[in-house]
Amino acid sequence: MERFWGVFIDGAQHAALSGNTFTVENPKNGEPIAQVAQGDAEDIERAIDAAEQAFPVWSGMAPAERANVLHRFADLFAKRLPDLIDLEVDQIGRPRREMAAQLARLPEWYTYFAAVARTYEDTVPPFSGQYLNYTRRVPLGVVGHVTPWNHPLLILTKKLAPSLAAGNTMVVKPSELAPLTPLLLGDLFKEAGVPDGVYNVVPGFGATAGQALTTSARVRKIDLTGGTETGRHVAAAGGKNLIRVSAELGGKASLIAFDDTDVDRIVSATLFASFIATGQTCVQGSRLLVHRSVHDAVVQKLVERAKQIRMGDPLDNSTQLGPMISAKQRDFVERYVQIGQQEDGATLVWGGQRPTAQGLADGYYIEPAIFTDVRANMRIAQEEIFGPLVCIIPFDTEEEAIALANDVPFGLANSVWTRDVARAHRVAHQLQSGIVWVNDHHRIDPASPWGGFKLSGMGRENGRVAYEEYTQIQNIIVNLSDQHFDWYADDGQPKRYS
Ligand code: NDP
Repeated sequence: MERFWGVFIDGAQHAALSGNTFTVENPKNGEPIAQVAQGDAEDIERAIDAAEQAFPVWSGMAPAERANVLHRFADLFAKRLPDLIDLEVDQIGRPRREMAAQLARLPEWYTYFAAVARTYEDTVPPFSGQYLNYTRRVPLGVVGHVTPWNHPLLILTKKLAPSLAAGNTMVVKPSELAPLTPLLLGDLFKEAGVPDGVYNVVPGFGATAGQALTTSARVRKIDLTGGTETGRHVAAAGGKNLIRVSAELGGKASLIAFDDTDVDRIVSATLFASFIATGQTCVQGSRLLVHRSVHDAVVQKLVERAKQIRMGDPLDNSTQLGPMISAKQRDFVERYVQIGQQEDGATLVWGGQRPTAQGLADGYYIEPAIFTDVRANMRIAQEEIFGPLVCIIPFDTEEEAIALANDVPFGLANSVWTRDVARAHRVAHQLQSGIVWVNDHHRIDPASPWGGFKLSGMGRENGRVAYEEYTQIQNIIVNLSDQHFDWYADDGQPKRYS
């Protein structure tokens, strides 16, 4: 019988107030792995109550004290890595090899933001007259984190580390497909000494629990990672309550490969950018813009290499490609494989089929798909697919490559592949995306701002800017003069009004 996980409120797991539960299944075979309390609006209210009560305690601690707690948490996280990795692999189906590499880095987020909190210096802006004028960064209060299923712990960590370091308390609404690792973090926070009620998790559905959290007038900021439509909805709700909204949304990243880069390097770059996480990442390299002179050689090698990618049990360390998260997501990608061929008229040169090998038939596996003869305005080249599908488009000039990369509604990330340093910067400066890698893709660091232009969202994760977005400025204006000031006295003295 699969394990039961409750809503995590005020330092303990509980059944949902309705008593309802839902099932989390393993994408490699569709088997149930957990029963989870299905939180609803009333559980969200209860979680916000707990977070409100904990706010004076957590925000009242000195930043250095909170930093010590976060360091302890980072150590505990590192110790529990094997459990966290296995649970993440089971709930989302990504190969252990990928999850081990990703999760091993997450303690860095907590130690980085602990350091930011400890060292953050406020300002003393000039103020005319005899005044001491200074600013303080104070936490916002109760914040809401709404997260997706593709990187459950990485994305949650990008939100938690700055919001906790800044002194906020929180309610998390994880994706219903991947709530287990966010729930497990509750035990680790408790063990690290985070007061009860600071970190609360209400698993449940977007339309109920998510809606209640993002429309609550008691929440001071919503930080969402999800699809662009969800982003619009949540931002509108935030607008009504006049609260801050950060939204990390969809993407349509291009790799731009110039002909001074080795064909082999372009090929490995594309495999990494386009197929890691079975393409389920917001910065997935969904378009390879490649100089026409190397196009054919790249296509030929890319197909050869893609055929060799090993699909299999995600728990097996030799597996290179896992299933997609759900039957729904696989159907979605299959639909685009069909659109690419039948509606767009592009050429599918490899993949896009369900593998028939033994052991894969029950899971949501799909072969990576490679399309050529793609025009930039085709649906497969414009819309977010969120799967292992890459469109290859040749270009002749630098200007054309830049125009192609910018001709999408999204603007999260792009990568430029060239050995010409001047061209690398020149191109990067003209790309309309919040992130540009040069000769790399997917790289991330807690200190490095992450977020999109255009329909890819608003606000930034990571770096000092994320810490600042989790605080508000209080300005203290101190009159240093002992002189009595009486605006209404008829004493003939000049008065200062501003
Ligand atoms: P969704 O937008 O479907 O869901 C994201 C979260 O929002 C889930 O927890 C979901 O709940 C919740 N939600 C859905 N509707 C509402 C609502 N009306 N009110 C409040 N909450 C709601 O995205 P996916 O989970 O399918 O994730 C994939 C998307 O995330 C892709 O578009 C991808 O590009 C984007 N993404 C962006 C990243 C970035 O850094 N910019 C990184 C990773 C992903 P539930 O699903 O449980 O019902």
